[in-house]
Amino acid sequence: MKKSTQQHGAQFEWAVIGAGPAGIATIGRLLDAGVIGKSIAWIDPHFTVGDFGSKWQSVSSNTRVGLFMKFLNECKSFHYDQCTEKFELHEMDPLKTCELSCVVAPLKWVTDQLRKQVVCIQEHASALNSHKSLAHARVWDIALESSLITSHNVVLALGSQPKSLNLPGVKEVSVTDALNAQRLSQCFLPSDTVAVFGASHSAILIIRSLLERCGVKRVVNFYRNPIRYAEYLDGWIRHDDTGLKGTTAQWSRENIDVNCPENLHRVLSTPENHAKHLPDCTKAVYAVGFTPRLISVDGRMDLQYNQENGAIAPGLFGVGIAFPEARTNRDGVVEHRVGLWKFMEYLGEVVPLWLTQKV
Ligand SMILES: Cc1cc2nc3c(=O)[nH]c(=O)nc-3n(C[C@H](O)[C@H](O)[C@H](O)COP(=O)(O)OP(=O)(O)OC[C@H]3O[C@@H](n4cnc5c(N)ncnc54)[C@H](O)[C@@H]3O)c2cc1C
Repeated sequence: MKKSTQQHGAQFEWAVIGAGPAGIATIGRLLDAGVIGKSIAWIDPHFTVGDFGSKWQSVSSNTRVGLFMKFLNECKSFHYDQCTEKFELHEMDPLKTCELSCVVAPLKWVTDQLRKQVVCIQEHASALNSHKSLAHARVWDIALESSLITSHNVVLALGSQPKSLNLPGVKEVSVTDALNAQRLSQCFLPSDTVAVFGASHSAILIIRSLLERCGVKRVVNFYRNPIRYAEYLDGWIRHDDTGLKGTTAQWSRENIDVNCPENLHRVLSTPENHAKHLPDCTKAVYAVGFTPRLISVDGRMDLQYNQENGAIAPGLFGVGIAFPEARTNRDGVVEHRVGLWKFMEYLGEVVPLWLTQKV
């Protein structure tokens, strides 16, 4: 893969680390706000739409097509009004959900437009260190694979990785493999009894694939919370961030709430139930959430962030699935807002604050 040859010591006003959906939205918002493209460094080893583009392509979305189109058309700097490609997404019903692969090609197109406008560095960033410049302004040193650059402001859009419970005695298959249509059949045999932990969108998708595509012998679903469904109410969505949507919700209503297959066994995830049922399981998938990717900041890995504006430290901000906004919904429940349009909406509010140093 072609690596960038970024000049050692190059200086920027803004550096955005990560080119998944959150990184794309951040670059779009910064350019639309008038930040000069050549003063923005965009850093990612791949520039292929992050995990969204590389890991979740065969997942059916929990977002409607119309919201993806809204994301693509939101930033002027995306130039999406000039896109002449005939992407499958354009022909789809805006009220329906879709396979995420249909969204990846348009997002890659937008990435390529943005790459022409900013300084792209195709490398992994390993550490950030703050210091005062000669003019006494605070700057961040960003250690890359082959050089070190500096920036006054840095946005981390690093993404997250699936958590694991690492229970002993049972072979783990990663959520990434279990959600990949090609890998799925290589990872599971019809003779397998599979433990699936969780009751989220990912967990239900995995259970469905194991039963319908792989035809495994049995699935034992260990859950802590009941299955929730998104409810579309007047002007807002109850369980917007935790509830099942689209075809996954429909399948769950038809196949778990009623007519539960004989070879699907659902039990509470307790130590007693683990001891009772896990010995029968040949494989386990832990669909129990995600944990942020790490980067060293002034020697520390445990980053705290303000969940209302993304601030981590002066001139350092976080966005995307690794640093989601927390918002209290109309039921008084705090939800962490994850999804393309939510990142875009949030950045619309916080980028003006970041630019005027109001956080
Ligand atoms: C199974 C699943 C289904 C989902 N379905 C939907 C959906 O239907 N609709 C929706 O809106 N959202 C959905 N999401 C949520 C969300 O949109 C995605 O998780 C999305 O990928 C998050 O975007 P991100 O940019 O925060 O992270 P990512 O997509 O993970 O991108 C992070 C990027 O940062 C780069 N990076 C990380 N560390 C470094 C480093 N040190 N140096 C340089 N680069 C680095 C990585 O290479 C990567 O390119 C889904 C999520 C999952 C897990």
